[in-house]
This record gives sequence, structure tokens and C-alpha cells, in this order.
Amino acid sequence: MEWPLTFKCNNNCISCILDTRQTKNLGEPFLEQIKEVIDKVPAEEVLCFTGGEPTLRKEFFEILSYARKKHPEKFIFVVSNGRKFADENFTKKLASLNLGNFRIGIALYSHKASVHDEIAQAKGSWHEAVQGIKNLLKYGFNVELRILVERLNYLEMEDFARFIVENFNGLERVVFINLKYTGNAFINRKRIFVRYSKAAPFVQKAADILLENGFEVKLFHFPLCIIDKKYWPLAEGTTKQESELTLLEKCEFCVVKDRCPKIWKSYLPLAGTKEFQPILRK
Ligand code: SF4
Repeated sequence: MEWPLTFKCNNNCISCILDTRQTKNLGEPFLEQIKEVIDKVPAEEVLCFTGGEPTLRKEFFEILSYARKKHPEKFIFVVSNGRKFADENFTKKLASLNLGNFRIGIALYSHKASVHDEIAQAKGSWHEAVQGIKNLLKYGFNVELRILVERLNYLEMEDFARFIVENFNGLERVVFINLKYTGNAFINRKRIFVRYSKAAPFVQKAADILLENGFEVKLFHFPLCIIDKKYWPLAEGTTKQESELTLLEKCEFCVVKDRCPKIWKSYLPLAGTKEFQPILRK
């Protein structure tokens, strides 16, 4: 179950799936409401806290402590832009909660500060995110690096991968994510759109570098026909946003359709369907 802790954010990413012109006025869900969600989360579901930027929620530590107390074994996941963790005291305080089965996903868009800050629309955000990741690793957190693939960063994925190898030893995994074109991402589509099949070769090369260096890699929202077969195990299976995903009529003939992560519905009006071609033999 995904739940926003706040709609405030100290970034304003051009590829955010929310329309931040609207969400910035939404304020925050009541604390009691969040606790009720935590109380009622089904046993088989993970708890995922998002935003906005969840670390900006005043009761961030209280909410996580409450969740852990209620569900001692449950997997808890926080998706963050990482900036608050540049403050070592903040990271240390989170470590002191001893959250156990817990992971933090941090979005980083590039090895270059200028590219990341342009996408995040926040000067200095790259430096803080990078320091944040280093601090989280220093305190032994399970950290997932989340890389949204877009026009402004896809060409330099190999250099980005080398940067990750050199700087973020100990990451739990690196996830490359193809864009869903809703919210800011739709509004800014002319600046950020890149065809999945055009970006895929660059992502594959980056994945090779990471895999060779012992990193775990995942590809989210890479339909199998746009990547080489070798990378299918990194991409197979759908995420939980089934209602926003689709297959095409021609996918009916594809022998891997049951393993395909499917296509974001919001991608098709921008890209058409030509690049998706049924795989006829395994
Ligand atoms: S043809 Fe359709 S089902 Fe087959 S891999 Fe491509 S998108 Fe997936």
C-alpha cells in the first residue's frame, strides 16, 4: 500500500508524475488518517510511504516508529529525493529507530549536478542527494537508487553507471524506470520525452557496468520487446499499478505477454505503438 506523508516537496521535478502546481496546495493528510492506514494495511501488503517528499513531514520519525511497532516484521519502503539525509544528524536519528526490514528509494537523475538540478528544478539538490545517499550507506541502510530515464539523461547512462560504482558501494539495488507521462511529466513532455526503444541500448550498457561490478539491477516498465533478451530477467513482471498499464491487440500473438511488464497507458498517445513488436519465439 502506497501512502503520501505530505504533498510538500523541496524539489519540483519536471518528470514528477504529480502535477505539482496542484499538489503544492494540498497540504498534508492528517496524522490520525495515516495511523489508521498503518493499522489497517493487509498482512500481505508492504507499506510504502511517498509524497511529495516524505522526509519533510514533521512527524516522519513518529510515523515510521508507529508503523514498526504495529507491524514488527513488515517490509516498509520510503521513496525520497534524499536531500534531508545530507544532514548526518537526521540520518543518525533515523538509524536510531532500528527499523529492521526497511528500505529507502532515492531518486537520482544523473552523475552531473547540472543535469540532476535541471530535472529536479532545484539548485543544490544533486549535492544534497549524493551526500544523503552516502550518509544512508554509512549508517547501514538498504538503499535503492531510482533512475528515471528521460531525454535529459539517457545518453549518459554509462558514465552515470561508472559514477555509481565509484561512489555508492553497498547499494541494495539500482532501478531504471521508464516514465509514466502524467502530472509534471505530461506537462513537460516536449522537454523530457524519449522513446523507450531509443533509450534502452544506453540503459542496457549501464546495466552491464553495474552487473559486472556486483550491483543488483532492475528495469521497471521496460516492455520485453524493446530490450535484448539477456535483460528480460531484470524487467519481467508488472508493478502494482495494473490499471495504468496496458497491452496492445498485437500483443495477443506475443509468446512472452504473460511475463511482460506491459506499457504505461500514458506513453501511447505520445509514442504510438510501432516500437512494440510481438515476440513469436522464446
Ligand atoms: S509485444 Fe506486447 S506483450 Fe510482447 S513484449 Fe512487447 S509489449 Fe510486451
